[in-house]
Amino acid sequence: TTSRSNAIIEQTDHYGAHNYHPLPIVISEAQGVWVKDPEGNTYMDMLSAYSALNQGHRHPKIIEALKKQADKVTLTSRAFHNEILGPWTKRVAELTGKDKVLPMNTGVEAVETAIKAARRWAYEVKGVEDNKAEVIAAKGNFHGRSINSVSLSDDPSATKNYGPFVPGIEKIEFGNAEAVRAAITPNTAAVIVEPIQGEAGIIIPPKGYLKAVREICSENNVLFIADEVQTGFARTGKMFACEWESVVPDIYVMGKALGGGIFPVSAIAANKEIMDVFTPGSHGSTFGGNPLACAVSLAAIEVIEDENLVEKSLKLGEYFATALRAINNPDLKEVRGRGLFIGVEFEKPVRSYCEQLKEEGVLCKETHENTIRFAPPLVIKQEDLDWAIEKISKVLSN
Ligand code: PLP
Repeated sequence: TTSRSNAIIEQTDHYGAHNYHPLPIVISEAQGVWVKDPEGNTYMDMLSAYSALNQGHRHPKIIEALKKQADKVTLTSRAFHNEILGPWTKRVAELTGKDKVLPMNTGVEAVETAIKAARRWAYEVKGVEDNKAEVIAAKGNFHGRSINSVSLSDDPSATKNYGPFVPGIEKIEFGNAEAVRAAITPNTAAVIVEPIQGEAGIIIPPKGYLKAVREICSENNVLFIADEVQTGFARTGKMFACEWESVVPDIYVMGKALGGGIFPVSAIAANKEIMDVFTPGSHGSTFGGNPLACAVSLAAIEVIEDENLVEKSLKLGEYFATALRAINNPDLKEVRGRGLFIGVEFEKPVRSYCEQLKEEGVLCKETHENTIRFAPPLVIKQEDLDWAIEKISKVLSN
C-alpha cells in the first residue's frame, strides 16, 4: 500500500540508523492514554515511552507550564543563574528526602553522574587509593547506552563490539544479597541496582533483597545507588520502588517521568557528604537544569501528587495483574508486577502478540523475546483499562 504511514516508515528506515526495531505504527497525535496514526486510527499506549509518560501524553498542566516558560526564557546554561532551578532542586530534594540535587537531561547521564559521584566519594571521603575504585552492578541490568553504562551490562546485544570497557566493575547475580557482600572489597565505591529490573522483563527481586543490600552497603561503607529512572515517580505503586522495602538509597538516579514525557529531565539526589565532591568545573551539562526543563519537571511532579498517581498505579495495577492472571494460555509462564508495571512472560517469543494487539488498538512491546511489558500512563481511567483488558485477554488466549 502507499499509505502515509508506510511512506514515513520507509523514509525513516532509509535515512535513519537501524538501532531500533519499532512496531510498524506511526504516532502523529496523542492525548492522555490515546494516540492516533496519520490515517486517523486510534490506539491505547500501553508502553508510555518506557515509563516516561506516567502523567499521560501532553498533560494539559505540563503543556501549560512549558508554554508559559517558553515565552520567558528557555536556556541560560549554568554560566548564569535562572529563576526556576532553585525551586526545582528544592522540590526534588524534598521529594527524595535528600540534601541536594544535580540536574542532567537523560537517564544515562544521571547514571554517569551517580558513578562519577561514587568514584570521587571513594577517593575523597572513603580514602580509596587513586584509580582503584570499584563498582558492583547486577547482572541483567539496564542503565543506558553510554560506554560506562554498557560496561555495567552483561547483555551481549548491548555490549557486542563496543569494547574496551570501563574497568573496575564487578557483575553479580541480581536478587542475591550475599553475592553483593562477597563482591565487596576495600576499594568498592558503590553498588548500583534497579530496585525492579525493567528492561530485563520486570524482574522483582526476592523479598528482603533491597533491605539486605542496603544493610551490607552501610556495614561496609559502600554507597547504595538506586537507578529509579524507569521505576520512579509512581510507576510501581510507590513514588520510588525502593519504598517497597522501606529502603533509602544513598543516591537516587531519576529520569523519564521526571520530565512528564514532555522534556528530557534527569537528576541524581544525595546528601551533602556525597554531593559536595562536585566542585566547579568537575562535572556539568549545557542543558542540565535549564529553565524549560525545570518548569516542565515542577509541573510533572505536581501532576503525580495532585492526581494521586501513586495510589492509582497501585490499585489499578493489582486489578490489571489479576485480570492478566486469569488468561488461559498453556504458554503463559508468569504475570509479575508492582503497580502498573507488569511483565507477562511466555514460553515463546511474543512479538506476534504485540503485532496482533496493535491490530486490536493496543500498543505494547516485547522486552527481550518472551516478555510483554504493560505500563500504561498512570492517568488511565478504569473504563479504559477495562477496554484494554478485553482486547489483551482475547489476543493472549490464543
Ligand atoms: N536506567 C534505567 C533503569 C532505564 O530503564 C533507562 C532507560 O530505559 C536508563 C537508565 C537510560 O535512560 P535514557 O534512555 O533516558 O538515557
